[in-house]
Amino acid sequence: MSSAAREPAGLYLHVPFCSAVCPYCDFAVHTGTADSRERFTSDLLAEIDLVSRNPQADEWPVFDTVYFGGGTPSALSADQVERILERLRNRFSIDPDAWISFEANPEDIAPESLEHWKRLGIRTLSIGIQSLRDDALRFLGRRHRGDNARRSLADACAGSFPIVSADLIFGLPGQIPEEWRDTVRAIADSGVDHVSCYQLTIHDDTPFARMRDRGDLREMPDDPQRTLFEIVHTELAERGLPAYEVSNFARSPAHRSRHNQKYWRHVPYLGLGPSAHSFFERRRWWNLRDTRSWSQALRDGRLPVDASEMLTPEDLALEAVFLGFRTADGVDFDRILERTGIALLEVNETALHDLQRRGWIHVDSATARPTVAGMAVADTLARAIDIPAPASDRQTPRRGEG
Ligand code: SF4
Repeated sequence: MSSAAREPAGLYLHVPFCSAVCPYCDFAVHTGTADSRERFTSDLLAEIDLVSRNPQADEWPVFDTVYFGGGTPSALSADQVERILERLRNRFSIDPDAWISFEANPEDIAPESLEHWKRLGIRTLSIGIQSLRDDALRFLGRRHRGDNARRSLADACAGSFPIVSADLIFGLPGQIPEEWRDTVRAIADSGVDHVSCYQLTIHDDTPFARMRDRGDLREMPDDPQRTLFEIVHTELAERGLPAYEVSNFARSPAHRSRHNQKYWRHVPYLGLGPSAHSFFERRRWWNLRDTRSWSQALRDGRLPVDASEMLTPEDLALEAVFLGFRTADGVDFDRILERTGIALLEVNETALHDLQRRGWIHVDSATARPTVAGMAVADTLARAIDIPAPASDRQTPRRGEG
């Protein structure tokens, strides 16, 4: 077992409800009634039971992060969240000090809900702010407005959560750099410890994709997108929130997302709920996306797994390079060698020094770390790297070659 597989694992719970489905959303979500939320909670408890009885459950290391994502976890009542946490603690080995993160929408934030979540041990509260401007929020199909967003941030920051995080979106058609700069500054000055900021992407089969295909919506071209990307990186860094990943910014290493860093470092994670992904050693698998199919599988006593894949050492190394160039910590050559048997440095010295000459990375004998300019072209950096066969493959003559 590699050292990554021995590190404490992460647990992700996908809550598939939102009060309205945004026209750009590509997640497994739907609106739901109070009854459907209660049914979902019972089904999730059944999944926890079923997975914990699976013979493979004993192989999982202790879980030290629990992440409620979605969808909108704040669509669940405090009682439902409490039952889920209690069942997890009864069925899995959960570190008593596990870091619990919870996504919430501004309209669900009120003094009572903040109190409930704190009592349940939630330590990172991640708020889907997206914008502080009413016109942008209306365009994005969000229910809250700038005033609600500001108030929810102020209440959450006053609520003594160890980490309050704000989610933002940029790259809206016609978005003006000066307005975007004002938004980013206001978010940084609100007292948050962490920001996640994603570029608007138009996914197929969404209302925005249909508007684009009809000619009613024009995506922002690359150059203005780059300007907005640079604004968020510069403004947040100047206000004490430097990027630790291309879309994530934190006041200090202690404020980084403990859970998401597991995804980027190939540490095991278990996902429960519709569409949730899991990863252990070299195997990745994912649940049925449709809530009804997921629920039916559980009612039939079956694991609601849709499909799985086994990653080769080359696949793992390639992913580690793509993910590594998106993070400030960069690509860790020793970790990749230990995990996959692939020595990247020796075959890529020329390519790495070329990327360094262009100001995109810093290279030493242990890592290749992207600069901010490099993070903006992370995929280009990754594509410059050759992934050779693992050393063990190269030493063993293949059948017919000896
Ligand atoms: S709130 Fe988030 S998860 Fe829910 S519909 Fe909007 S984008 Fe999708």
